[in-house]
Parts: sequence; structure tokens; C-alpha cells
Amino acid sequence: MASELDTTARPSDARDFEKICLELDALEAIYLRRRRLLDGPENNAIRYIEERADDLASRGGLDAEGLIHWARDNSESVQRVTLNTFALLALERKQWEDARKLASEVVSRDHHDLVSQRIVDAASEKCRLNETEADRWLSGRRCSAPFEQLETRVNRSVHFCCSAWQPIPIGRIDGEDEDFWTSEIATEIRRSVSEGDFSHCSRWHCPAIAARRLAKAKPQESKPVPASPRRVILSHDRSCNISCPSCRKELILIDHASSRRLDELFEEKLLPLLADAEQIKVTGSGDPFGSRHFRSVLKALCSQDAPPRRLQLHTNGLLANERAWNDLGLWDNVSSVWVSVDAADAETYSELRRGGDFEQLLGALKFLGVLRRAGAIESLRLDFVVQARNFDQMGNFVDLAQRVGADKVYFLRLRNWGHESAENFRKLDVCDQDHPAYHKLLSRLADPRLAQPNVDLGSLATLRREAGTTRVYA
Ligand code: SF4
Repeated sequence: MASELDTTARPSDARDFEKICLELDALEAIYLRRRRLLDGPENNAIRYIEERADDLASRGGLDAEGLIHWARDNSESVQRVTLNTFALLALERKQWEDARKLASEVVSRDHHDLVSQRIVDAASEKCRLNETEADRWLSGRRCSAPFEQLETRVNRSVHFCCSAWQPIPIGRIDGEDEDFWTSEIATEIRRSVSEGDFSHCSRWHCPAIAARRLAKAKPQESKPVPASPRRVILSHDRSCNISCPSCRKELILIDHASSRRLDELFEEKLLPLLADAEQIKVTGSGDPFGSRHFRSVLKALCSQDAPPRRLQLHTNGLLANERAWNDLGLWDNVSSVWVSVDAADAETYSELRRGGDFEQLLGALKFLGVLRRAGAIESLRLDFVVQARNFDQMGNFVDLAQRVGADKVYFLRLRNWGHESAENFRKLDVCDQDHPAYHKLLSRLADPRLAQPNVDLGSLATLRREAGTTRVYA
């Protein structure tokens, strides 16, 4: 285990700054443990960064301003724990822009880092950590998701919500010792959403927070923990028939043997959990039709004697056709279909949905639109990940959704799943206020088509509030 910081040093030049930086970099592994609450709820990541920043601030003779500027100049070679510590130090010194820049470097590398997101927000609002508008709003809100749902991940970990919204796993599917539904971490997360601090939820990526649509807290409300989840999201296979640059570098299709192993794991560990689930979503990780494993899961679930329409399909849509409905037995088993599209024209689609064919997609959407109009499914939603290449098509995308008969349109921010370098990600992430097209994005967000009741701006809702007074860009 790396040692704690030496608080007796008196740095005065770049060599000393580098030495402090290396000392902090050596604490990265502890920081990552604390991000996952592996040393207990009290020893969390924010507290760890606060302690490191306090250590630095208490050093007599430290040229804090020089250190922060040195860190900004060298930010690309510095670890996340160090960047966040320097960013918090800058925040406490009211060096708002320095704090924002340093924390933004972490954000562009790692969308699971909640500390950096919160520092960026505080720096943008020129306030202390925990005193942002989102923090004030959240203090009077509650969320029921950790009492109702869970999501499986590719690395066999289990979360309550999408890992971008809530990055801390509550346990593992294949863990022997512990019931993840009632684990110590699960209890801590439930506490945080019941007491209003929402310490483990992303203010940026959770759409319920970004769109400010969590329920108000009721006095003396204490929610019982049910025996099992009402909703389960299966996201433990990344296999997909296309390879979108927003998600991966290349095609991911697991082989037959790995797929069989997942089938066995599903049968042993997950199927019993699904017995009482009212909703099962397939999938947040790849494609339900492009994955051999998920096709077999769907077939198994559809052949069960279970309540009708409990499946929610999240798909790229290309293989969502009548043949799939017949082969997998999906008729009467599906309540909703969400289709990730990201484009309103064929050229953009071919770039952002690498391997996909726009005409084929439109054919599938036509089929899904017919199902929706006939009442064979209850909801059809089209999704759009907003990025530099497509943000000027958001209004047209709402029109496209209307043409194919979708009920809802959902926009969300681009995230770095670890597949892009920070530098590349910064070029793509038009939602970053340092992006050259950011103000153009704000003007696009003022488009009245995006204010229609069927449009959910999800994690972009905060930006639209900012865009409220901006004229539509012509
Ligand atoms: S606030 Fe969002 S991230 Fe947190 S538990 Fe609720 S749905 Fe999940």
C-alpha cells in the first residue's frame, strides 16, 4: 500500500511540484478502492480527496498557486487522484477556472469519476463542493431505484443503476459469500438516496437528476427493502452486430464457448432472481439480437409461464424485425422497445453506427411502428447520443421519430467508456463547455422541437436550462 503524503515538505520550484505529484500519483490505487467503497462507506472517495487537499493546504510555505498552475500545464501525465486533489485545492482557494480545468481532465478520461464531475459543477457555479444548485435540489428529493432494480455488468458486477449513473457495484453475480441485494454497499447507497445526499449518483449522467424529476421527500418516510428487485437490467454481454465509435473501437462478439458459459451463469444465478421481476430489460451493454447469449435468454424467458409484456428491449434496431419476433417468441412478451439511432440521415448514421445500414434501420423502425400502432407493444423510443458529429441534427431527429411512429425521443450525453483517449474524447464531447461548438450546441438546444412533451433531454436537460435564453442557431 502506498504511503500517505509527507506533510513536512516545503516545495518552491517545479522539481518539488513534480515530487508532490508523484507522491499523490502513488495513491491512485487507494483512491480507486475508495471510489468503490471497498474500505467502508466512511472512507469514501470525496473524503479521501478532501484529506489530501487539506494535507497540501496545511503545508507551510507551499506555493499553492504555482503548484496548481504547474499541474494544469502537466495535467495529461497526472493521475486522477492527483488531478482531483489539485482541483479541490484550487476550488477551496476560489481559483474557479483552474479547478474546472483540472477536474475536466479527469472527466474526459473517466465517466465513472463522480468527484471530478462535482468539482466541475462547483467551480462553474463558483461555490463549495456540496453547495451546488443540484445538491440543494437533491437534499429534498428521494429515489426508489435502489429499492426496486438492479443491473448486471460484463465484469460480473451488479449495480442498482447504469454504471455511468451510479458507478459503485453492490456485489458480483458470481460472488459466493454475499447476497448483493442486501450487501453493506447496497445499504449505504439506499441510505444516500433516502437521506438526500445522493453521494453515489452522477449529477451529470443520471437522467432523473439531470432532468430534475425525482420525487419529493415525504416526512419520516422509511422505505422497506423488498425480497428481490422488481426490475432487472441484463447488461452482462457486450456482443453486438455493429461497433459504434461512441461505445467501442471494434466489433465485439463473444465466441460459442463464452456464450455457453454465460448461458450457464444466467440459468444458475439470474433466472431465480427473475422469477418475481415485473420488468426485464435486455440490454444496456450490447444488442439483444446481435448477442448469441441474449437471444438464448430471450427465448428462455419467452417460453416461461410468466406475466405478459415484461420485456423491455434496448437495441440498435437493425435486427428487430418480424423474423426475430417469430424466432424468439417475442409476441405478447415485449412492453417497450428503445432503439439507439444517433442520426437523422444516412451519412451520419453510417459514421456513428459503424456497420449499420440506414435503409435497413428504417425498415425495422417501420415494423416496430406497426407493432406500436397495433398496440402489440406499449412504447417505442428512439435514442440519440449527442456528440460533435450529430448535435445539429437533434431537431430533425425529433421529426424522424414522429414519422416512424415513436412515442418518445431520448437524448443523452456522450461518455468515455475508457475506449477513447482523453484528447479524442474532448474533440467529440460537444457538451463540454470548452468544446469549440459548445455555444452552437446551446443554441440548438433552444430549438422548440426539443421542448415537445415526447422529448426527454435526459442528461442534457441541465444544458437546455442554460440554453433557455439562447436563440436557435440558423
Ligand atoms: S438518482 Fe439516479 S443514479 Fe441515483 S439511484 Fe436514482 S436513478 Fe439511480
